[in-house]
Amino acid sequence: MRYKEWFDEHAKKHAKIIKELGHLDQDELIAYFDFDHMKIAHPDFCPLYAMDQKCHDTLKLNCYFCACMHFRFDDNGIKTTQNGKTLYSYCAIESKNRALFEDEKSIHNDCSNCTIPHRQKEIEKYFSRDWSEAMRECDLSKDTLS
Ligand code: SF4
Repeated sequence: MRYKEWFDEHAKKHAKIIKELGHLDQDELIAYFDFDHMKIAHPDFCPLYAMDQKCHDTLKLNCYFCACMHFRFDDNGIKTTQNGKTLYSYCAIESKNRALFEDEKSIHNDCSNCTIPHRQKEIEKYFSRDWSEAMRECDLSKDTLS
């Protein structure tokens, strides 16, 4: 699945849940997205829920910001690197826990060891009921398309 496809589908899923939760305030809404609650209340929100598996090995995991506001992507490629590979995504804050997926032709950012968007303080800092608004800087393709 291309980044943009996942991004748009996830935005719709998030918005649908938020629409049902207008009665909750910010703190309640964030708490609602706790992994242990979400896997029961919204089993289709993440494919890992069915396996009772977290994307990160932490005791508590909050799924409000599945995807990260610091992730940058372009399915058409951001740039060609010096070794001739195409860079498709990167971390805008250069998290010390970021890594790279590389193959012969491409480079992608690997967030599997970074929990920044799942941290309570980070969620509060970037909180928006509109997930797409919180992620507004992620999709670089919109900057290059006319
Ligand atoms: S490495 Fe961490 S901070 Fe950077 S984009 Fe991935 S999850 Fe976000």
